[in-house]
Amino acid sequence: MYSIIITYAALLDDKMSSEKNKIKYERLVDVYQALDSTTKRLEKTEILSDFFSDIHPKLLPIVTLMALGRVFPVWSEEELGIGSKLLMKAISSVVGVTSEEVEDQVRDQGDIGAASEVLFKKRMQTTFFSQPLTIEMVYNNLRKISSVSGNRAQSRKMNIIRELLSLASPLEAKYITRTILEELRVGVGEGTIRDAISQAFGVKKEVLDRAHMLTNDLGLVAQVTMEEGEQGLKKLTLKPGKPVKPMLAQLAPGIKESIAEMGRAYCETKYDGIRVQIHRKGSEVMVFTRRLENISNAVPDIIEYIENALPHQNFIVEGEIIVTKDGKPISFQYILQRVRRKYDIEKVMEEVPLTLYLFDVLYFNEPLIDAPLERRRDVLESIVKLSENKIQLSRQVKVTMENVEDAEYLFTDSLNKGHEGIMIKDPNEPYIPGIRGKKMLKFKAEPESLDLVVVGGTYGKGKRAHFIGSYLMALSDQSGDLKTIAHVATGLDDKTLLELSQRMDEIIQESKGRKVKVKPHIILEIAYSEIVKSPEYESGYSLRFPVVKRIRDDLSLDDIDTVARVESMFKG
Ligand code: AMP
Repeated sequence: MYSIIITYAALLDDKMSSEKNKIKYERLVDVYQALDSTTKRLEKTEILSDFFSDIHPKLLPIVTLMALGRVFPVWSEEELGIGSKLLMKAISSVVGVTSEEVEDQVRDQGDIGAASEVLFKKRMQTTFFSQPLTIEMVYNNLRKISSVSGNRAQSRKMNIIRELLSLASPLEAKYITRTILEELRVGVGEGTIRDAISQAFGVKKEVLDRAHMLTNDLGLVAQVTMEEGEQGLKKLTLKPGKPVKPMLAQLAPGIKESIAEMGRAYCETKYDGIRVQIHRKGSEVMVFTRRLENISNAVPDIIEYIENALPHQNFIVEGEIIVTKDGKPISFQYILQRVRRKYDIEKVMEEVPLTLYLFDVLYFNEPLIDAPLERRRDVLESIVKLSENKIQLSRQVKVTMENVEDAEYLFTDSLNKGHEGIMIKDPNEPYIPGIRGKKMLKFKAEPESLDLVVVGGTYGKGKRAHFIGSYLMALSDQSGDLKTIAHVATGLDDKTLLELSQRMDEIIQESKGRKVKVKPHIILEIAYSEIVKSPEYESGYSLRFPVVKRIRDDLSLDDIDTVARVESMFKG
């Protein structure tokens, strides 16, 4: 009890708090419960819009994030880093039951949040104080977890969680635990939040959507909407330091057809690596993936190339990082190992040398996304100092129907050099963040594979009992819901299998016997021999002889393949 008293005093000592922005966490919990009670998007929008319009503008950035079940924006380098095992331990110590009892309850209820609610109802120990948790207290204390490092970091993180939970009611515990694992399960995505903000403050959705695409900061967008309306939103623009959702490519039907349609095209080698957006803000250089994750710490070599090759002015450039050995690109898997690396980075820098191919510039002292590609490429060429094997511009040819063979030659020569194919881009077009449009196309040689998300799995038997040996894969339908399509059992070596099983362990939502259901997070590229119709899977289709080609940690749920694509491939 003593420790709880001390802690509560610490929790109250919250610098950001002022009386007027203190709102009970219980109110947010009511909103979560209401959101959970309906599947209708319009109703969810209504609930959120009522809530947002009633909140102090200073708190709005916090509640928009928390309505998404997050405490850090995606692009933040900070993360909570708490797995379900550690969280279950914290729950068991606060509630006063064994870890096994917590695990049983999680199995029965289907998730940690629902299990916490049940366990906290039964909790023997009651807190000394009856003062309620506020939204800020929960938010600030969860954020504190990420800053704990060094000696006994795990146990100090545990203490913060235990302290928060010891002050929570059963329903509060349900949502605090889900927030810690970043899976709120109330069916709200960024789109619903944007609709709710637009409804709450009467601003046009297009204006709001564009502001969000450019800043990727819903909290900021919400606050500006409330305080300054559409005029304020129109002033928001991209800023070095905050990543922008990348412009995406559609499949080209063929080289000639695509160039004929565009009239004039820029064709470039398509490098098979990971896409990065590199920002310079003042003296800081930051590297983000296409999922907007900050990987700056893992790629000091890229940062050094950039320091040497580009002017020390604010900019955002985009390119592809590949690994080369003796001038040839080598396996894509190496790059993922590189960018996920947290230790011994110096050592792998020598073993796995990176080359960066830049292909676009979005900002150079001023935003450039509205400028046509032609101008952006000119700017890029004028600011980059090339350096062999380190930093290059994407190889490019300018074509019309007059010299279409130059594009065809680029394609075969790119394949010969070990690259993936070509990109066909319209030089008159602006950069449109987050959109998969017809103005940037890709043309690849290999038969298409599918990018699918793992939603479940089955543990092996006997010697392989600690491996998840078979993965249940899903794609998305029109409304973004996931639909299963295949079980995939082969393709990976034991080391990768073990690593995947361990990662799956952390995101288990339900388990029954050897079968588990997991949070949709891990994306695998699946090759197969044929698409067939099948009532066995939710998508109505199944894959024959599916094989895992590689883990696609560079992709997000927005990038996975769709039922519509499989349908068109089946017919075609
Ligand atoms: P995909 O990932 O299959 O949708 O294909 C588009 C991807 O190709 C982009 O997201 C980039 O990661 C990659 N890429 C490789 N080379 C280029 C290039 N020259 N221009 C644009 N994207 C490229």
